Amino acid sequence: MPQIDLYIAVLLEFLAASVLLERILEFFDKILSLIGLGMGRKAQLLRLADIDLNTSVQTDRLIKKAFIMQTAGIILGIGICYFSQLGLLRALKLIAPEPLQWWDVLLSGILISGGSEPIHQLINFLKGHQEALKEEKERLQTQITQVNPQVQSLPGSRIGITYQGGLYPDKPGHGLRKANPQYIVIHHSGTSTSASFEDIVRMEQKERHNAKGSYKLDPSFHSVITYDGQYHHYCRWDSVGWHVAKGTRVSNANSLGLCFVGNFQSRRKDVPDLKNKPSEAQLETGARLIALWRLLYNIPEQNIVAHSTVQRGRILCPGDNFPMERLVAKSTQILKSWQNDALIMEDIERFKKQRFIYV
Ligand SMILES: [Zn+2]
Repeated sequence: MPQIDLYIAVLLEFLAASVLLERILEFFDKILSLIGLGMGRKAQLLRLADIDLNTSVQTDRLIKKAFIMQTAGIILGIGICYFSQLGLLRALKLIAPEPLQWWDVLLSGILISGGSEPIHQLINFLKGHQEALKEEKERLQTQITQVNPQVQSLPGSRIGITYQGGLYPDKPGHGLRKANPQYIVIHHSGTSTSASFEDIVRMEQKERHNAKGSYKLDPSFHSVITYDGQYHHYCRWDSVGWHVAKGTRVSNANSLGLCFVGNFQSRRKDVPDLKNKPSEAQLETGARLIALWRLLYNIPEQNIVAHSTVQRGRILCPGDNFPMERLVAKSTQILKSWQNDALIMEDIERFKKQRFIYV
């Protein structure tokens, strides 16, 4: 494409030169006619082939005139090219730009001596080719965008959460579930808010070793949300995680574990630590993920629970500064807005058809 643009630009330059040459020849033609050397239309005189040999008694004189005109045209063409430093091959970048080659000037002179018509035709041909290329490119582009929505827009891209089985898609965590989850348990990581997902995985992997191989995989949450608001899927949603001790209602077998990175417990019980809370971005992503899970598994609002409320014993997870109620309310709000949006619900229907979601 850029090459064709270059050709056209170069030819336009030559077109200008050939038009100049034509004007000069026209003048020359008039002078020749004045001194009585044949008559005729300019187009006939410019090219020998255009002359009809049988029609005129003046044929000899016409040929003579055409020959003079053509020779003059070539000499003039070469002259124009020489003085304006026009070299066709060097302009097309087919030969080195410096120095200007005499044969390139000769060739260019012959080209423009043919008049502007052949150059016009060449330009038109290239423009046609350029249009065809452009159309082809556009056709390819629409083809790509027609194919790409399926590649690019993975299920969940409308809601901003995609899922492909978490960290170990080929391994079903601590065994596959016997039934789909009914609860969502909220945790904090108990670490610094700056901990990355990798840090959380390392921490969990350490626990696996402490347990002397009793876990097949890392004891884990189903998803983790870092302080920057990014979600990270950890163990498969259709598998049993390892985030809560078995209680009367809630257990690993019937719940999903969602971990917010940070420690949201006040350091001193008597002085609430107001700075110690999850980021808004974290809560926003958390609420969206909870809304998605509620839609996927039909989990009622009251079944979104804090770790500390479902496990006996003194559990400080997700911490007394964690805005549990606000998170749940936010997820309900999001869920309702999604249910009113046909495109999002369509997206969620596609989401449901993916692997690693249902037992
Ligand atoms: Zn916890």
